[in-house]
Amino acid sequence: MEDLLQSWLLHANRRPKLLIADDQPVNIRVLYELLRHDCDIFMATSGAQAIALCQSEAPDLILLDVVMDDLDGHEVCRRLKADPMTSDVPVIFITSQDREDDEVKALELGAVDFITKPINPIVTKARVRTHLTIKFQGDLLRASALLDGLTGVANRRKFDEDLHADWRHGTRESAPLALLMVDVDYFKRFNDHYGHQAGDACLKAIAKALADALRRPYDKLARYGGEEFACLLPKTDLAGARCIAQRMIARVRELAIEHLSSDVDTRVTVSIGIAVLQPSRELTPDALLKAADDALYEAKRAGRARFAESSMDDQALRVSRASTGNV
Ligand code: GH3
Ligand code: MG
Ligand code: MG
Repeated sequence: MEDLLQSWLLHANRRPKLLIADDQPVNIRVLYELLRHDCDIFMATSGAQAIALCQSEAPDLILLDVVMDDLDGHEVCRRLKADPMTSDVPVIFITSQDREDDEVKALELGAVDFITKPINPIVTKARVRTHLTIKFQGDLLRASALLDGLTGVANRRKFDEDLHADWRHGTRESAPLALLMVDVDYFKRFNDHYGHQAGDACLKAIAKALADALRRPYDKLARYGGEEFACLLPKTDLAGARCIAQRMIARVRELAIEHLSSDVDTRVTVSIGIAVLQPSRELTPDALLKAADDALYEAKRAGRARFAESSMDDQALRVSRASTGNV
């Protein structure tokens, strides 16, 4: 399992998680000894415990005994597949050799494979390995579908998902949500002057500088499109958002990427639109996007290489722009 394990460690930054569910501890022990060097193992001795562990630990694979006292393996599998949170976790049934109909039923229930008891160690290891590889490749594929190919930060699709999720959290927890729209200044001229390849390298460096300006694990940066980035800051008020915007502008300046055809500086700069809103059921995330866009437009209009603010309160939808003093 060496190469698989190394890939997991490299890409997922962790070992594969395996859940073993069997009501006979002695059976668990056999599988545990066989696989403990390759995986982090979670153990359940009942169907209910298996479901609970699956929800809390999000394992990469489940080895599930069919005959158990409380919920049998088939019922556990049915419930896991019915719950969107656990439906993607691959299940391998451990069945008794004398119950062939179990195998048909297992596959019908959505299991990826079955292993017969008494288990053959080599076959078991090989099948676990095969299904962990498939799971891992699926994870990579899903993750890459949400990443921007050039810069490696989240893409627009992921941003849209995150915006809606953060909006829901903010509504539930009555916590403000800040959005920064960041746009590179005079970037068309940069491309014209230095070439498209230099433009790409510049965008990569900017993405990294912007990501470096974030502090908290739930702050998120995405490439919104072209030379525009969007940054979601949950539970952040205007003062906090300003602080991040200032830091982003400074970090990009510190990159000191020459831009002699810019009207505002000899280096590449960015403009930022800040919007802070209390999410609520009366508003949609589009209100936040529009407010940040308006503020970005204002930052550009006011001379670029700066930020502007649009802070709305959800009652009056009042827009105030701190940089111009308009309310
Ligand atoms: P402003 O200061 O008003 O934002 O002006 P701007 O030139 O930055 O804005 P405009 O929207 O006119 O031009 C954006 C440019 O960004 C045009 C496009 O060629 C460039 N661009 C968009 N995506 C990429 C990319 O992936 N790579 C490169 N090299 N350039 C890109
Ligand atoms: Mg631009
Ligand atoms: Mg633009």
